[in-house]
Amino acid sequence: MSTQQFSTAALHAGHDVTKNGGTRAVPIYQTTSYVFNNAEHAANLFGLAEPGYIYTRLNNPTNDVLEQRLAALEGGIGAVVTASGTSALTTALLVLLKAGDHIVSSNSLYGGTYNLFNVTLPRLGITTTFVDPSDPANFTKAAQENTRLFFAESLGNPKLDILDLKGISAEAQAFKVPFIVDNTVPTPYLLNPIAHGADIVIHSLTKYITGNGTSLGGAIIDAGKFDWSSGKFPEFTEPSAGYHGLVYHEALGPAAFIAKARIEGLRDFGAALSPFNAFQTIQGLETLQVRIEKHSSNALALAQWLENHEDVAWVNYPGLASSKYNALAKEYLPKGQSGLITFGHKGGYEAAKKIADQTKLFSLLANIGDTKSLIIHPASTTHQQLNNEQQEATGVFKDLVRLSVGIEDIEDLKADLQAVFANIKSPVTV
Ligand SMILES: *Cc1c(COP(=O)(O)O)cnc(C)c1O
Repeated sequence: MSTQQFSTAALHAGHDVTKNGGTRAVPIYQTTSYVFNNAEHAANLFGLAEPGYIYTRLNNPTNDVLEQRLAALEGGIGAVVTASGTSALTTALLVLLKAGDHIVSSNSLYGGTYNLFNVTLPRLGITTTFVDPSDPANFTKAAQENTRLFFAESLGNPKLDILDLKGISAEAQAFKVPFIVDNTVPTPYLLNPIAHGADIVIHSLTKYITGNGTSLGGAIIDAGKFDWSSGKFPEFTEPSAGYHGLVYHEALGPAAFIAKARIEGLRDFGAALSPFNAFQTIQGLETLQVRIEKHSSNALALAQWLENHEDVAWVNYPGLASSKYNALAKEYLPKGQSGLITFGHKGGYEAAKKIADQTKLFSLLANIGDTKSLIIHPASTTHQQLNNEQQEATGVFKDLVRLSVGIEDIEDLKADLQAVFANIKSPVTV
């Protein structure tokens, strides 16, 4: 891990100002390719005999800075950035898995991830058993001989349950499979899954890390501590036909996975991040700490206000003393619990749709982690494709409204919700 404190590393890690003519900002290298010194240099680069840039699908100097910075902030040995959070996940999975393999996953998942596991990966012969993550032993109970990884979100979206990361990583370690954690909602400022035993961390950079709602992006970060030589991962211990007989585990040691994610994952699946989006993400990352502190304090204040509101049936925010995840929040997220709140109005499903419809500051859209406040009614939108049982398993109740609390003034946010609550009680017709 970087020896610098978080906010310092977020501003400086990975960028050497003595290179590139002293540019203080990280420049955008908007290029697809790089001129080789000569034929021998080209041959060496392609043969991985010397490091360097070949083609932007594989590596790029702007993306490089972002990768080094994210690895420093998460305490990993390396990172690969991708075109979206979803492609970070699919790239990591397809580098590790093949037809016939099995995943044990938490059932508290982002809607897109649930569909990937439940519908799309089975078409490739990769199946998933979903478990209630609140008991770490459930992962091992559901594990099969062909299980190759455990997966969960550190702070489930939209259930807002907090994982017992240490408990689940101990189960994964005993079963000799990597534990992959999607850490999008807490961000590396609030939580470092690797410090609690995770092997690989996934981010959607689209959310809090970029933070301004302008750019999609994703990242895979490798702790570099999983032992790929146990026999469960022959792709790491046998010569790779895709790389002229390279044996990843022997040649690359702790960097075997993250190297494979780049030289096979990006090469063959192609989900490279645009250098322009990397630049945008770097701008956001520089201010992550101050933003996430404000997101967290605003969300806690708003959750407390909602909890005391007579029209509100229930509120779920891990920072509330009433939350069943409060003890885990104190253990894993002591600096703040990020910006997502879910709640139900006493008016139920119909009220939920009205709230999502009528707020003015809270924008109705399918994203989280923007500096601007956002709102959605998952049951009728992001989780619409799931049946009732699946909705309940992922924590999507019919009346659930999800807020992504921005960094506006808290009084304006309360006033925006209050106006809608008042209108639900005594509708104003215009
Ligand atoms: C948004 C999100 C994703 C997917 O990321 P994209 O950048 O939209 O592809 C994955 N996991 C979580 C927790 C998310 O919130």
